[in-house]
Amino acid sequence: MSCVIAGGGPAGAMLALLLARAGVEVTLLEKHADFLRDFRGDTIHPSTLQVLGEIGLAEEFLRLPHRKTYELSIVTDTGPIPLANLRGLPCAYDYIAFVPQWDFLSLVTSAAARYPSFRLLMSAEAHGLIVEGGEVRGVRYRDAAGEHELRAGLTVAADGRTSVLRRAAGLVPREFGAPMDVLWFRLPRAPGDPDETFLRLSRGHLMVVIDRETYWQLAYVIPKGGYDDLVRQGIGALREPVARLVPFLAGRETLIEGYGDVSVLTVVLNRLRRWHRPGFTAIGDAAHAMSPVFGVGINLAVQDAVAAANLVAGPLRADGRVPEATLRRLQRRRMWPTRVTQAAQRVVQDLLIGPALRNRLGSPPIRPDVTRIPLLNRVPRRFIGLGVRPEHVEVPASP
Ligand SMILES: Cc1cc2nc3c(=O)[nH]c(=O)nc-3n(C[C@H](O)[C@H](O)[C@H](O)COP(=O)(O)OP(=O)(O)OC[C@H]3O[C@@H](n4cnc5c(N)ncnc54)[C@H](O)[C@@H]3O)c2cc1C
Repeated sequence: MSCVIAGGGPAGAMLALLLARAGVEVTLLEKHADFLRDFRGDTIHPSTLQVLGEIGLAEEFLRLPHRKTYELSIVTDTGPIPLANLRGLPCAYDYIAFVPQWDFLSLVTSAAARYPSFRLLMSAEAHGLIVEGGEVRGVRYRDAAGEHELRAGLTVAADGRTSVLRRAAGLVPREFGAPMDVLWFRLPRAPGDPDETFLRLSRGHLMVVIDRETYWQLAYVIPKGGYDDLVRQGIGALREPVARLVPFLAGRETLIEGYGDVSVLTVVLNRLRRWHRPGFTAIGDAAHAMSPVFGVGINLAVQDAVAAANLVAGPLRADGRVPEATLRRLQRRRMWPTRVTQAAQRVVQDLLIGPALRNRLGSPPIRPDVTRIPLLNRVPRRFIGLGVRPEHVEVPASP
């Protein structure tokens, strides 16, 4: 018996690679025709780089066009406030690599394709579960050729925060709310632009500015549900803060022709109380949707995948099934890092983002540099770089 995974995001792709590498028959279903979608975050943190290193993929990854960021800071009207300096992290990689997520996913799925037990079905949308005798025995999916059933010893929902499969399994997440949504758009680079990625804070405004080599990827944070209001005010309501918050872009804001050039990303923060059923588990955002705060959702999804592979590869290889007790252990192992990370995200949402968007937080009169105080730098450095419970690949490659 094999494993079927719905969702070719960071969680599903990494789990598929690790299982295929361990010699488990695995099918990965992805509903889109390619990985070329935007808006999924670009950050590969040291904990994920460490995982890539453990399976011999780090060098290949670092050959992808990428930018390394060693220091994180918020740029305010009166100058930058350093938040964390990753240098000196106890790990082979002390930086965040910014890589478009489609490159990361292509790398992971191409590596998986080197193993004969891996199968990738693109444009294949999972829409239901095969349930027999109270146990999940596989997935129902559709593609251009029609409806299909795929039987498996373990079915994994890695289909993201709107997971269809967790709903089919009767699992409903507990919502924690988020005060913001994000508008996502691009502007071209010009000679003389700085080479950096930063978070810009000003009274009533927050913008993330991501350097993507040939263009700027901009994420403008707005109050939750505020998009319709912005559209009513016209495109000037978006152009104006772009030019003001990021002065080197002034003049280029007119290239945003209208809201057709802009994608709205709804931010949610939630998690399942129970991640599993007999023969079934959810991982990544399907189990716990992460806020973009700290940019760690991809990394948490990858860590879930590593923990899952470590626990389920053996039973799948041995008798094609995974006892529910093992799936319970997986949830127990990953619930703690999820809780702690989401709690920290909620604190930032409530104390920084909410007040900033309500115009109650601007440039502080003093700008403390905690990164110069080793003890104060150590906690955010470790939290952001390695996360709460970094996982290591324990399951060996099949001979
Ligand atoms: C605005 C915003 C910005 C963010 N920025 C960052 C960031 O910079 N860094 C970071 O680390 N995290 C970021 N995050 C969080 C991050 O995107 C997620 O935590 C992470 O992508 C979760 O990975 P995943 O594999 O669990 O799910 P996803 O990345 O959502 O992947 C799910 C996959 O499943 C596929 N799928 C969905 N339904 C089906 C189906 N029925 N059948 C088959 N396939 C299906 C989808 O097409 C997708 O490929 C951000 C989140 C938001 C909302």
